[in-house]
Amino acid sequence: MGETPSETQKTPEIYKCCDNPQITYLAPVNINIDERTIGSVDVWRCAACMKAFCEEKTLGIDSITDIVGMPRIEDDEKWAVIVSKLQKGKDKWKLVKLKQNGMIKFETADEKLIDLRIEDYKITDDFHSSFLVLDHIHTAVEI
Ligand SMILES: [Zn+2]
Repeated sequence: MGETPSETQKTPEIYKCCDNPQITYLAPVNINIDERTIGSVDVWRCAACMKAFCEEKTLGIDSITDIVGMPRIEDDEKWAVIVSKLQKGKDKWKLVKLKQNGMIKFETADEKLIDLRIEDYKITDDFHSSFLVLDHIHTAVEI
């Protein structure tokens, strides 16, 4: 492991993806319905450890994460978008962090919490699907 020199300048804990965070904007992934962009996921990446951070942007709605800063993601999670066939418009998609397997709680537009099954970083459900954000950098995804 070795020793790391003590830092005089403290990085806020939330940005601490590694010892020397250099987080820069990478690219957007646009979310389209009928070829119209209804929102996007902004992707940021740390040039030091290459960890990616994502932020959900719904057109016409102010970002709610501007104070919070970069959201945390664990090493065993990947950024993904869940697409619901039961919802319409901006409620049709949601940025989430998926583990490789297991269950995830998903809040529907009418504020019900449902359990969705994850298999190999993918939602497998009759009414929901998902895709990994980092597989679609610089592109638009039709949902
Ligand atoms: Zn980093």
